[in-house]
Amino acid sequence: MIPITKPFLPPQEEYQSYLDGIWKRQWLTNMGPLASELEMSLKAHLQLKHLLYVTNGTVALQMAIKALGLTGEIITTPFSFIATTSSIVWEGCAPVFVDIEASSLTIDAGKIEAAITTNTSAILATHVYGNPCDVKTIQAIAEKHDLKVIYDGAHAFGVEVYGKSIFEYGDISICSLHATKLYHSTEGGIIVTKDAALLKRLAYMRNFGFSGPESFAELGINGKNSEFHAAMGLANIPYIEQIHNKRKALTELYHLRLKHLKAVAPIWHKAATINYAYYPMVFESETLMLKCMDQLKASEIFTRRYFYPSLANALPYLEPQDFEVTDMVAKRVLCLPLFYDLTVEEVELICRLLLRIQNN
Ligand SMILES: *Cc1c(COP(=O)(O)O)cnc(C)c1O
Repeated sequence: MIPITKPFLPPQEEYQSYLDGIWKRQWLTNMGPLASELEMSLKAHLQLKHLLYVTNGTVALQMAIKALGLTGEIITTPFSFIATTSSIVWEGCAPVFVDIEASSLTIDAGKIEAAITTNTSAILATHVYGNPCDVKTIQAIAEKHDLKVIYDGAHAFGVEVYGKSIFEYGDISICSLHATKLYHSTEGGIIVTKDAALLKRLAYMRNFGFSGPESFAELGINGKNSEFHAAMGLANIPYIEQIHNKRKALTELYHLRLKHLKAVAPIWHKAATINYAYYPMVFESETLMLKCMDQLKASEIFTRRYFYPSLANALPYLEPQDFEVTDMVAKRVLCLPLFYDLTVEEVELICRLLLRIQNN
């Protein structure tokens, strides 16, 4: 059996050594020493000045919307994970969808301005599969129309664009450290902003709004994460490069072997590094994609329609809407297995099967 993904686990004794410290201190959560150490390590690794470690990527998105005081309409992409849209609705705002670009699969920056109204307060865009949005054009639009920008960088851990961390773009960027993501702390998320006042506000928000034992500075939530999660994050840090190299090699092998598959990979941002978070392919037709998915499954190889369906026409709490590019891509895209433990032989097998299925 080959799953679509498998979380990376560090050697158990390395995680255990962090647990020994937790047992000694009996400090389990509420921004303990491991959570603080993880923030420092991630800042150093990602070369960021500020960053907050929070419960998960979804809470990070909700806190970002809240902290920026967004109201009314938020322009967003229909081609993302549900949390991108649900966070907007959860915070009492209205998502206004803009179609994606067929090559990058990120929001089509050229179509954003037409969607701006007097009620628009922000743009919330996703770096799909870690592939950066057109951050320069989005920034220019935001400045021209006085809008805030939030990036859902749940997939984008470690990516750099124009020579700096992708998380430096926008007013706030978030990342997910969920077990299925490239780098994880079991559950977890990070919030990044360069604005010190905003950071302070987010830090209060993360801890119920407390500014002291008996005082409150903000409307807050429980956005903290535990020492056990931080320990997993810390234990995984030494393996980031090794994980990257393995995924890179497997990705290159897929590319090589699947040259004649009637499917294309998204075109990556020219000024960005690649993090090899996923292996998506947009097939020539939905029929071929489904045939591949079903027949791989018959061989116990699991793939995933990620993202399908389009967020613009699948949610019971929103009026359904069609988008030409999103609908076409969502119907035909399939992510192939990609994870650290996947072997060269398994990738060879998957590729052989795919070409055989296509040619049958
Ligand atoms: C995983 C994911 C999230 C949510 O992150 P969690 O940590 O699982 O809450 C948000 N957006 C995108 C694009 C994701 O893939």
